[in-house]
Amino acid sequence: MKNHHRCNCHIIPPFILDELKKAGVDITAQTKSISRDFRLRRADQLAFRSSEASLVTPPVKNADRFVYDSKTTQNQRLLLVRKEGGAASADQVVNQVYENAGAVRSYYKNTFNYLSVDNHGADLILNVHFGKAYANAFWDGDEMTFGDGDGQIFTNLASALDVTGHELTHGVVQYTAGLTYQGQPGALNEHYADVFGSVIKQVAKHQTAATADWLIGDEIMGPTLTGQALRSMKAPGTAYNNQFMGKDPQPAHMDNIYKGSADNGGVHINSGIPNKVFYLVATAIETDKAALLWFETLKTLKPTTNFKSFKTALLKQAKKLATAGKVPATTESVAKQSFQDVGL
Ligand SMILES: [Zn+2]
Repeated sequence: MKNHHRCNCHIIPPFILDELKKAGVDITAQTKSISRDFRLRRADQLAFRSSEASLVTPPVKNADRFVYDSKTTQNQRLLLVRKEGGAASADQVVNQVYENAGAVRSYYKNTFNYLSVDNHGADLILNVHFGKAYANAFWDGDEMTFGDGDGQIFTNLASALDVTGHELTHGVVQYTAGLTYQGQPGALNEHYADVFGSVIKQVAKHQTAATADWLIGDEIMGPTLTGQALRSMKAPGTAYNNQFMGKDPQPAHMDNIYKGSADNGGVHINSGIPNKVFYLVATAIETDKAALLWFETLKTLKPTTNFKSFKTALLKQAKKLATAGKVPATTESVAKQSFQDVGL
């Protein structure tokens, strides 16, 4: 059985939380302590589940959605408030995350015939109202959890489709390539989460590569930071620049690759480089064709794939898909040029 590398993948990276802390925004301290306590408690449960999972192959399920209300505590699966096919809740946050998870599930099913995060129809567990003014959302290896945000810097994390698309794609990556969450493989993991978060948002908004804004997280920015975003796939390094978050550190070229140890070796920083490649390819051959190329490539990657071997794997798939008539004949040369444009 494949070793599934679980990540504790948060949409808002640690370096932004550090900047907020420096700016005196107190959501940071609380967010961090919640995450830490929470991880300690989770470790036992995860160890138990993975030992259990290694004994049997899970049966195919229906990818049912279960929305739980954490009621501003730090507990997951606290109170079940909406399940698949059930009546809508009076709480619009519950309904919104239910719809968003449904849109992500439909995208993978309709586009790639890929069922849920594991292609075996695993249940989609969604926890909302986690923590007090908790300003983050994360995939922890088997479920999704969303905070309400502080309402000023960040709004409710459960409201944005690209956030749910991003986090559930971490699940898809876990069950396919299993990219480790460190260094370049970790940046590719983040990259894939951004790619499909953005693609699913484009599909929902009926946008094309030319009309999309290519921003990640623009819809979770609170009134204080209107007009800013967490990342820009079109122009990495330009998503935000303000007194609370500091300046977007993403490079768009290998010349500026981050080599430090923060953020698991820059997983949310260096993802800007392949993000730019995806933007360039999608602009040339259209987003749906680029998405197919990226998804087919994902299934061939290894947990330790770095940027160079990602390029090799993707060009190989481009050739294969073009021969099969599934992407334009120019795809391989377009992709090669796009990698060269970012120094790869
Ligand atoms: Zn992520």
